[in-house]
Amino acid sequence: MTDITKTEGLIYNIQRYSLHDGPGIRTIVFLKGCPLRCPWCANPESQRFEKEKMGNEEVGRLVTVKEVIDVVKRDMPFYKRSGGGMTLSGGEPLMQPDFSKALVQAAKNIGINVAIETSGYQEWDRLWEVMEHIDFILYDIKAMDSSLHMEILNVNNDLILRNLEKLVNKNKQVIVRVPVIPQCNDSFLNLSETVQYCKSIGIKEIHFLPYHQLGVQKYEKLNREYSLKNLGPLDKEKLITTSEKLQDKYEVVIKVF
Ligand code: SF4
Repeated sequence: MTDITKTEGLIYNIQRYSLHDGPGIRTIVFLKGCPLRCPWCANPESQRFEKEKMGNEEVGRLVTVKEVIDVVKRDMPFYKRSGGGMTLSGGEPLMQPDFSKALVQAAKNIGINVAIETSGYQEWDRLWEVMEHIDFILYDIKAMDSSLHMEILNVNNDLILRNLEKLVNKNKQVIVRVPVIPQCNDSFLNLSETVQYCKSIGIKEIHFLPYHQLGVQKYEKLNREYSLKNLGPLDKEKLITTSEKLQDKYEVVIKVF
């Protein structure tokens, strides 16, 4: 049995009253550390597996499961009324599997619904330890073509896609999210292949997340280069038209945010 007063993890934020990261009103726990380096990442301070300075701000703090759950449970009445709960986000919550698993178990023990936002980039056994008790999964696919995935992220998408298929086979409730980035993965071919694949494995809902530049200042504060600074905005109307076409063709729900 895990001692929730001793099991520790590195987080960089806890955000209450969120409406965008799973059903209902939710508290988001942002874990620090991610194995990927998406060039568009809006939370670059989440990527390193250690505390760091972002301008004058210290990012990252070591906390116990109990400390997190004590904050999360303050909003129980909101979760009950809205069908909400806790969402693990990042960074990549699966990269701290012992901490994430303990958090999930502690939340479930007191009747809190748990969601996760993940890239799915983790060995299956470690991933499943966390996912087994999770109610709702928001799972990213960045590119369908493996060589495009490799070009963008320096890793192929095999592990990510195999893990997704296993989660669906285990009847997990999964929504696939696609960050749509101009001149990167926004081609009709990539979006169409992604939707076709999702349909083929039994995914019922897909979210397209249009590119934005909200995190750009953070790169400056971290003394890091933002490689997409010359990228224009995404044509959202065009993306909506594409999503409608794909929704009709493949009969899956597609939402554009
Ligand atoms: S997977 Fe998420 S947290 Fe990790 S680099 Fe990509 S956008 Fe950032």
